[in-house]
Order: sequence, then C-alpha cells, then structure tokens
Amino acid sequence: MQRLIEGFKKFREGEYPERISLFQDLATRQEPGTLFVTCSDSRVVPELVTQREPGDLFVIRNAGNIIPSFGPEPGGVTASVEYAVAALGVEDIVICGHSDCGAMTAIATCQCLEHLPTVAGWLHHADAAKAVNDAHSAQLRRGPGRGDGARKRHRPAQQHQNAPFRRPGSRSGPPYAPRVGL
Ligand SMILES: [Zn+2]
Repeated sequence: MQRLIEGFKKFREGEYPERISLFQDLATRQEPGTLFVTCSDSRVVPELVTQREPGDLFVIRNAGNIIPSFGPEPGGVTASVEYAVAALGVEDIVICGHSDCGAMTAIATCQCLEHLPTVAGWLHHADAAKAVNDAHSAQLRRGPGRGDGARKRHRPAQQHQNAPFRRPGSRSGPPYAPRVGL
C-alpha cells in the first residue's frame, strides 16, 4: 500500500501539473473513441500498449476479457458496453487477450475450479465460445486441403460468440449495433 501512496504523491506533484490542461479538459467530459475490453491480469496495461492518453479508452476489465451473451439479466459488463456504445458513441471496440491468461487456460484445459466457485461460474459465459473454438480446431485437424485458407477463417471464438451485439440477421440482441471489428 505504501508504494501506491508514494506513487500517487509522485503523480500529483509531478505528472499532474505537467499535464494540467489535459486533466482540466477531462474534468467534466469524456469522448473516448474506443471501447477496450481486456483481462484483469496485472500485466496488461491498455494505455501503455496502445500508447493512448487519459480519456482515449473506455476500458472494461474482467477475468478472461469475456463479454457475456446479451440477455434479460443486467450485468456490469453488458451495462458498460451499452453505455460506451449508446451514450459515448465509441467508434471501435477492441477485445484484447493476452498470453499466459489464467482464465483462458482454465477454460481450454477444463480445469476443476471447485475452490473458486465464483470464477467457475463466470467462466461459463465462455462455454459457447469454447464449443465453437473446439469445433473449428477439430475441423482444422481433420481436413486435408484445409491449409492457410482454413487457418485464416479460424478466429478466437470468444470474440465472435461472446460479443453481445446484434448481427445482421440475428433475432435477438440489444437495440444498438456498433461497428465491431471482428
Ligand atoms: Zn487473463
């Protein structure tokens, strides 16, 4: 904790005065261009890896950078996505995974998480993504003639299945349809 306190003092006395105009401008408004969804993992620092400034990214973080499918029960992730898209009007949505992700490893290897029941429940939001991903992997393993073309079509299924947006032709979903770069 002492390191955090010292870090905040350093920021307040050093970087804050140097960038006072930016922070004053952001004091009463925000216009982030990007919704950035990533893992809670301490090693992922969105503003650092994208070289963005305060106010540029609207960030959602959780275990495994998972976006639950759209449903009638409100959730923090869904509410944040709705706010970013419908209220802030973000132009881009990025779902950023990372290497050595504990959540994704647990899903991929079907780890028993009886000692972490809440985590286990949360990761079930990725069940559909895992099923699709497993099917794609099996298809890739099977086929002759499924070379580069097949690999190009293969994408982390989580990005496709867990995004709570209504796609053209789908019959359910929230009443907004942002441009999602999947
Ligand atoms: Zn992770």
